[in-house]
Amino acid sequence: MKPFDCHCHTERSACAEDVSLEWYREIAADAPCSFAITDHSAHIYFPPDEKWVFWSEQGREAYEHHRQWGDEQMEQYIADVRAAQHGGMYLGIELDIFLDGTPVCSERYLDEFDMLLGAPHTFPAVQTESPPEQVEAEYKQIVRGLVALDVHVLAHPFRILVQKKHPISEDLIKWTVDICGEHDVALEINSHYVCHDEDLAMARIAVAQGAMLAIGTDSHRKNEFGVFTYHHEIADAVGVPAEQLYWQPQDVTIQAAR
Ligand SMILES: [Zn+2]
Ligand SMILES: [Zn+2]
Repeated sequence: MKPFDCHCHTERSACAEDVSLEWYREIAADAPCSFAITDHSAHIYFPPDEKWVFWSEQGREAYEHHRQWGDEQMEQYIADVRAAQHGGMYLGIELDIFLDGTPVCSERYLDEFDMLLGAPHTFPAVQTESPPEQVEAEYKQIVRGLVALDVHVLAHPFRILVQKKHPISEDLIKWTVDICGEHDVALEINSHYVCHDEDLAMARIAVAQGAMLAIGTDSHRKNEFGVFTYHHEIADAVGVPAEQLYWQPQDVTIQAAR
């Protein structure tokens, strides 16, 4: 069984380096894994000179302002990935969400994806150095919002908190595993920005409770794609075969190889 990489970016993500949809199309048939194309929904909905506005206080207003343009971009993204799709390539999206639960993507498109990767990327309390309790409360609200949208995988659950040097308690990790487990959402072990201690704790709790783990390279560069060393290291450390991490989306509408 080949690994399934739940997280790959193309040139549509503003932070991507040398990857492109065309490159994935070329290598899909011979790739060492099956994989989902998951560009940031916020990068699809925000125009080129406002790519990072979602991450600012003006995010909500700008989203509404560009909504119709963004819908057209999203339709084009879906069409382009479907046209490139063959081998083990899946159509996904790294879905952004506002604190109130509104996804950065018109909800009518959400059923069109083979896989939804929900990302807790930003919320007001982490931007404004609010007290830890408030950061934690908003983190939970964002995760609840993603779960309510029926995402399949929770992307890099603790990255933003780690980057902001927010203390991450065992209780918070357990809370995250619990809510994902209850809703059949897999927890991503992400090798692009490694959060080793948190991943290890998350994987231990997930394995003990039977929650699903998924592996993501979060490839922004070609040399990140297909490299699962870190995921295998975590699997070894928690004493499960690496294959147990090879979560795949079910019931996908993947097209036959062409
Ligand atoms: Zn992300
Ligand atoms: Zn990503």
